[in-house]
Amino acid sequence: MTAAAPPIFTLDYCAHYAGYPVDTADLISRDGVWWLHVVVTLPAPEVVPSDEVVGVDLGLVQPAVTSNNQFLGKRAWKDVEGRLFYLKRQLQRKGTRSAKRHLCKLRGKQARFRRDCDHVLSKQIAQAVEPGATIVLENLKEIRKRSKLRKQSKTSRRVHSWSFAQVKGFVEYKAEGRGCTVAGVDPRYTSQSCSCCGHVARNNRRSRGRFVCRVCGFELHADLNAARNIAAKYHASGGRAPTGGLPVNQPIVSVSTPLALE
Ligand SMILES: [Zn+2]
Repeated sequence: MTAAAPPIFTLDYCAHYAGYPVDTADLISRDGVWWLHVVVTLPAPEVVPSDEVVGVDLGLVQPAVTSNNQFLGKRAWKDVEGRLFYLKRQLQRKGTRSAKRHLCKLRGKQARFRRDCDHVLSKQIAQAVEPGATIVLENLKEIRKRSKLRKQSKTSRRVHSWSFAQVKGFVEYKAEGRGCTVAGVDPRYTSQSCSCCGHVARNNRRSRGRFVCRVCGFELHADLNAARNIAAKYHASGGRAPTGGLPVNQPIVSVSTPLALE
């Protein structure tokens, strides 16, 4: 470097990672501020894998519900997301140069908002289980409630799309830090099956967030029922479902652990 060195600040939450071997470093500029994203390697935590398996149902109204009865994330996220969506649509209609500029900023804002939510949610998920446990997610592309899909128009459907890959990637590296494994299961029928008797029917699921089984009468919060089915699916598959690792966008910290799942 030839220029005089500018003042450098380290964020508080990064201090913990100082001194570990550096993998990569990316210098990026945003709104006139330069950020250095450093990826370091941490030693794998010495945690003995446990038998605990926790299924997680990801949704939009309630961001995450775990099979061990935890309701995670904030319901208000959906409203913020909705406001951003309608603002974006208005700007798109306007189409002027200033509207396009505003739109561009809004897209960045939305991406940062979602990333912040995903960080909060994935941390809560990782902390909702004991160290060494297995966290089971559905293999989804987008987070949205499948059962409602048919009734929705094209535009309202777009409000309800949220990248699953980012949440999953964050959960994976936060879980690794606690010696947990993340597994994926086929998402089919997880919301239509009865977690009590196993009966599968489209009309099993009723509105207002309650699941009611047509055969045995079992009744439960619909997302909690789905989370239990997700955990059960993992057990039924012999507990060897592949994780199908998806790339994470610029993690600030990466954790390296042995790749073996067992
Ligand atoms: Zn049933």
